Amino acid sequence: MATEVACTVMNWTNYHMHTFYCDGECTVEEHARKATENQMLAIGFSSHAPVPFQSDWHMKQDDLGAYLQDIKHAKELYPQIQVYKGLEIDFIPDVIGPGDFEEYKLDVIVGSVHYIGQYADGTHFCMDFTAEELARGLREVYAGDVQAMVCAYYERVQMMVRYDPPDIIGHLDLVKKLNKGNRFFDETQTWYKEIVAETIEVIANSSCIVEINTRGFYQGKTTEFYPSKWILELCFEKNIAVTISSDAHHFSELENNFAEVAELLLSIGYREVKVYLNDVWTSMPLLPNGLKNLT
Ligand SMILES: [Zn+2]
Ligand SMILES: [Zn+2]
Repeated sequence: MATEVACTVMNWTNYHMHTFYCDGECTVEEHARKATENQMLAIGFSSHAPVPFQSDWHMKQDDLGAYLQDIKHAKELYPQIQVYKGLEIDFIPDVIGPGDFEEYKLDVIVGSVHYIGQYADGTHFCMDFTAEELARGLREVYAGDVQAMVCAYYERVQMMVRYDPPDIIGHLDLVKKLNKGNRFFDETQTWYKEIVAETIEVIANSSCIVEINTRGFYQGKTTEFYPSKWILELCFEKNIAVTISSDAHHFSELENNFAEVAELLLSIGYREVKVYLNDVWTSMPLLPNGLKNLT
């Protein structure tokens, strides 16, 4: 009887991680060192890109050079893994988007919608900060209309995918982050399913990759990963490529819940995920305990 040798090494990739340069809790080097210890295949840094207004969780424009330099240094220091430079770039129509960072020749861009409108004083409404902030934005920016607020989020995601597409769409259904116990809306409502399906259609017509982002789950904020299983099933039906990431803000989070994600993806029907290796996006077979390195 043939026996299979259990593979103990989990070769993962992760292109979504934050550092001290934004709201992360460790250095570029610490992430790279841990990723090397974990025998990861590749990592991509994606600190929050600078925004043209006051923020305490985005990188300062003046730090961008040092950040990229640190990544270059980590690449030299840890040749055993592939280290890539990237940013998580906010998409705010007419304010900022992935296309604004072309000059930095980034390897991997995560594009995310965190802001969905402005208060009367012009400050931007961040919808994933606290439940209180979300309730304030709902009241002041959307006059209490939850459906309008949630649809505005997805309309912005669609706009980004159509007009300023990133490589990876960050936490596709982030709008559910502060919705535990259906505090604001119910994911099974028809209008919600419709706006999500419409968004999936737009993504299917692009070359964007959807990430399965485990952060909301391991932080105990959401009961599922981003995006929810039923949304991933729609992605699978529409042949949308996926990648696995943890949105790590500390090196201890680099592979959080990845085995569970693999199990989920395999149960849906996915057999491969997208990885950025040797400077190109390519597909790699997905196994329950990691990616099958064919090189
Ligand atoms: Zn984000
Ligand atoms: Zn992030």
